[in-house]
Amino acid sequence: MNSQTEVIVQPNCEDEYDPGLLPVSVALTRIAESITPLSDVEQLPVREALGRILAEALHSPVDVPNHTNSAMDGYALAASDLDLKELTVIGTAWAGRAFTAAISAGQCVRIMTGAPLPVGADAVVMVERTQSVGHGDAVLVEVDVPAGNHIRAAGEDLQPGDSVFSAGTVLGPGHLGVLASIGVDRVAAWRRPRVGVLSTGDELVDGVGPLEIGQIRDANRPSLLGLLDEMGVTGVDLGRVADDEEAIEAALRGGVSTCDAVLTSGGVSMGDFDYVKVVLDRIGDMRWMQVAIKPAKPLAFGLVDGVPVFGLPGNPVSSMVSFELFARPALRAMAGRRDLDRPRVRAVVEGDLRRRPDGKVHFARVVVSTRDDMTYISSAGGQGSHQLTAMAAATGLAVLPDGDGVTDGDEVEVLLLG
Ligand code: AMP
Ligand code: MG
Repeated sequence: MNSQTEVIVQPNCEDEYDPGLLPVSVALTRIAESITPLSDVEQLPVREALGRILAEALHSPVDVPNHTNSAMDGYALAASDLDLKELTVIGTAWAGRAFTAAISAGQCVRIMTGAPLPVGADAVVMVERTQSVGHGDAVLVEVDVPAGNHIRAAGEDLQPGDSVFSAGTVLGPGHLGVLASIGVDRVAAWRRPRVGVLSTGDELVDGVGPLEIGQIRDANRPSLLGLLDEMGVTGVDLGRVADDEEAIEAALRGGVSTCDAVLTSGGVSMGDFDYVKVVLDRIGDMRWMQVAIKPAKPLAFGLVDGVPVFGLPGNPVSSMVSFELFARPALRAMAGRRDLDRPRVRAVVEGDLRRRPDGKVHFARVVVSTRDDMTYISSAGGQGSHQLTAMAAATGLAVLPDGDGVTDGDEVEVLLLG
């Protein structure tokens, strides 16, 4: 037996009902009122535009496809010729090499996928539905071939003047391909927001050396900077500061003078050393909110010198959940996006996700999977707001309304993180 006093871990007792808590929607509205999209536009080569947000609506200057061509390897022919069944092959067309003469009655052209359709042809029969006759000088067509068969018409995808993408579109790989195909080599994209990340707390240390009692390593800065990188905004590492009013003020002032928004973590609750709250109150136009959620109940949002500052809670899971719910939509709006929310789906619970009634909506860290057209979720691990491994493993946040939670087979809403 060891001689240390045994620590009995009690279930959390902090969650008394609090009538002053705000619904998420109210907190979001308060934030949205103070967010203005950035207005600077950059002209980017298409090759560098992945993940960037289109600043203007794009219209096609051309037909796509730009010429009528074959969708198959086979023979180009005039559909009206087909009572003949046997056609003379007068040449070959392949992608990049058109057959330039016209075909006349009783003739066809061997054609490969992508080759322009020869003049006089209006259909393609696939090679598998034909038989070569003689030494390939003629071909026997074994099926009926209607006009338009296996043809990709010019302008079928886009015609001049057609809307291609609207402003606010996030450019993915497919978008870049479309831009290239319509002959656009530079696009107007909104400048990426620069977002500072500042950690606060006397207990935080950097590096990998041994920890003294009470010290912890800064987990929030890497997580928050990672979230920013992942969403395509420029994360700016503002370092960490001790629980010291002067140091916090200097770091915040530095942050808002060089960034479009600042995220802080820690120091915004009711503890004796929560000086971020004190400083923000003094230098910012702040909205202090207690949101009816768990984790991430405390939230500070406001403007310092006109720059939005999100005072996120210190617990690592809370800071990430708060980011997901409040900072991400605001930063998307600043970045010029029109789609501000992560997708939410209904999912079937595997195992239990228990909770206690406390007047709050809980966001449980879950792993999302799909089988037989159904979406399932199961717990990603320990659900404490300090248990970051479950947040790291989570691919969704299950929305558990106030009550006792859900059990195997129940259906709940889940916010998809991936
Ligand atoms: P606070 O809101 O400052 O009281 O912090 C709440 C909890 O989160 C405390 O246990 C802190 O030690 C912890 N915490 C605050 N900042 C960080 C951080 N950057 N990385 C890891 N844990 C943190
Ligand atoms: Mg602290």
